[in-house]
Amino acid sequence: MTQAAQEAVAPPTLVVRGLRKSFGSEEVLQGIDLTVARRELVFVLGPSGSGKSTMLRCCNRLEEPDAGEITLEGDPVTGPKVDVNQLRRRMGMVFQAFNLYPHLSALSNVTLALRKVRGLPRPEAEAMGLTALDRVGLKAKAASYPAHLSGGQQQRVAIARALALEPSVMLFDEPTSALDPELVGDVLAVMQDMKAQGMTMLVVSHEMKFARDAADRVIFMDAGRIVEQGTPEQIFETPHHERTQTFLARFSGRG
Ligand code: ADP
Ligand code: MG
Repeated sequence: MTQAAQEAVAPPTLVVRGLRKSFGSEEVLQGIDLTVARRELVFVLGPSGSGKSTMLRCCNRLEEPDAGEITLEGDPVTGPKVDVNQLRRRMGMVFQAFNLYPHLSALSNVTLALRKVRGLPRPEAEAMGLTALDRVGLKAKAASYPAHLSGGQQQRVAIARALALEPSVMLFDEPTSALDPELVGDVLAVMQDMKAQGMTMLVVSHEMKFARDAADRVIFMDAGRIVEQGTPEQIFETPHHERTQTFLARFSGRG
């Protein structure tokens, strides 16, 4: 089979069916259905508290779903027999806070998981780490400590750390929200480059211009449900749902 034919029959990268999650009496995910195809960039929008982070965290089992099924490349993510550590290696996660180790260089932050989780010998881990740093434009900063890097550079190191593990999908939770405005562009450029290289990505963000430039599909969430989804053009130019319209109106003139 050709590569294209193989991809056509391969299961979607991520499939979420009927996902529900409550905290106490509040049901913050009320039945989420979502499919992310291979190489697709799905962009998730929604007001604060709508359940975006919880949805991402359920995908890699940082939160335990109450109900529903999730699969990664056809393999179960939910269920008692799943090896969660094995699973997380196949999903890169980038958060708002970069969570780098302050006492480790950029390169050591990137190679740590390669050495401890994948058990690679130091030279091999360092070669892969440098390749990952190169992809985010920071090879020259390999020896620098986080305190000597800007917020945008630290976030790019965090992206390199996830990329180095060669994940099947990258999950981003507001990766630029903690950054000074002038540093946002470099991080988004790295993400756009990853998309161009064929990475599958699920991105929670408020960067509307990025969504227009890079997203294949935009999803609008509100109160624990997917209210509306479509191409960036459909969602931004002709949103159908009143809640989507209200939300977007608050952002007009920005991004
Ligand atoms: P978003 O990322 O869209 O802002 P979240 O998924 O963070 O939304 O939160 C959805 C709702 O769930 C909010 O009401 C939030 O307060 C609540 N929530 C999230 N995490 C927890 C938790 N660990 N314990 C209790 N409530 C939580
Ligand atoms: Mg959130």
